[in-house]
Amino acid sequence: MTDFYRMLPEEMEKMVIDMGYQRFRADQILYPLYYKFPKSISELKQLPTQMREKLVEQGYTIGSATETHRVTSEDGDTTKLLLTLSDGTPVETVLIQYEPTKLGGHPRSTICVSTQVGCAMQCVFCATGQMGFERNLKAEEIVAQVIHFAEFLQKRNQHVTNLVFMGMGEPLANYDETIRAVRILTHPRGFGIGQRNITISTIGIIPGIDRLAEEDLQIGLAISLHAPNDKLRKQLVPTAIPHSVEELIAAGRRYFKRTGRRVTFEYALIENINDSPQIARELASLLKGNGSHVNLIPINPTAGNFHRPSEKNVFEFERILRRSGVNCTVRVEKGSEISAACGQLRTDILI
Ligand code: SAH
Repeated sequence: MTDFYRMLPEEMEKMVIDMGYQRFRADQILYPLYYKFPKSISELKQLPTQMREKLVEQGYTIGSATETHRVTSEDGDTTKLLLTLSDGTPVETVLIQYEPTKLGGHPRSTICVSTQVGCAMQCVFCATGQMGFERNLKAEEIVAQVIHFAEFLQKRNQHVTNLVFMGMGEPLANYDETIRAVRILTHPRGFGIGQRNITISTIGIIPGIDRLAEEDLQIGLAISLHAPNDKLRKQLVPTAIPHSVEELIAAGRRYFKRTGRRVTFEYALIENINDSPQIARELASLLKGNGSHVNLIPINPTAGNFHRPSEKNVFEFERILRRSGVNCTVRVEKGSEISAACGQLRTDILI
């Protein structure tokens, strides 16, 4: 079985030609695939009946997920979908919308996709990390998450503007399938989203970062740092052992040098653990003069005993970084009441 959403446009063309059809038949599949969202090959009415039959016979299919549940936050800005994959595995995807800046403009619609079911990284404050690793998602299952929201938004006359690989799982631990999905989603004859509108967030798998820098892709990179030194980082990210904070920062610098894309360091702020002014100063001196950007994420509640610092402390942490010349923003919180915010995705919540 091969899902059409797994295929790059070039592969689609080759398939069509190998079957003895003309090249343009590939476009007659690709166009509906990314604009009309068909659920089966029988819906591709522009293709000759015989071709459709042949495709089915040869094991081609469309779609690897069905929507089984949907929740929307009270303000309507955040929507979480529970998709069920063909083997019955549930996976979560989140849409976060931000108000348009100009009157009458479209809202920014960011999809937060998952790359694995569960996660092996064990971050102590992350619900996905605590559920353990189940399996990698296939490229078509990553693409399916975006397609489901693209269809949802199309009905409202809106479209997907940004993609962040910040849902369940560690994208660089599922490297090949993640990159295949990125290539399909950014291909002008595929989904066609701009490479610059995509960010991959990683716990910091260095060989993966270096490989990504060589992909000739203009995607943004976010590295989940969470601590300015190895001792503290290992408490929060037990699997960080092979890579030191220093090595991570150097990898970020290499990525920036190679791609010209700014690297963001994500920092989940946890009360009494990594939020003191002293730690802020340590982080500031580590990142100073680096051109890096820090995104502070006041921790979202999960089952663990971790708390969000007071607003005053978040502000103070931010001020210390800024005063040292380190670019810094605090992540706008969306969707925590429907467990759709960073680190809250775990598939047993909805079922
Ligand atoms: N595995 C990747 C991507 C998924 S997590 C990574 O670690 O980057 C996306 C971001 O959410 C990471 O920065 C992660 O540290 C953060 N996060 C996880 N749990 C969180 C929580 N409870 N509150 C706030 N942010 C959290």
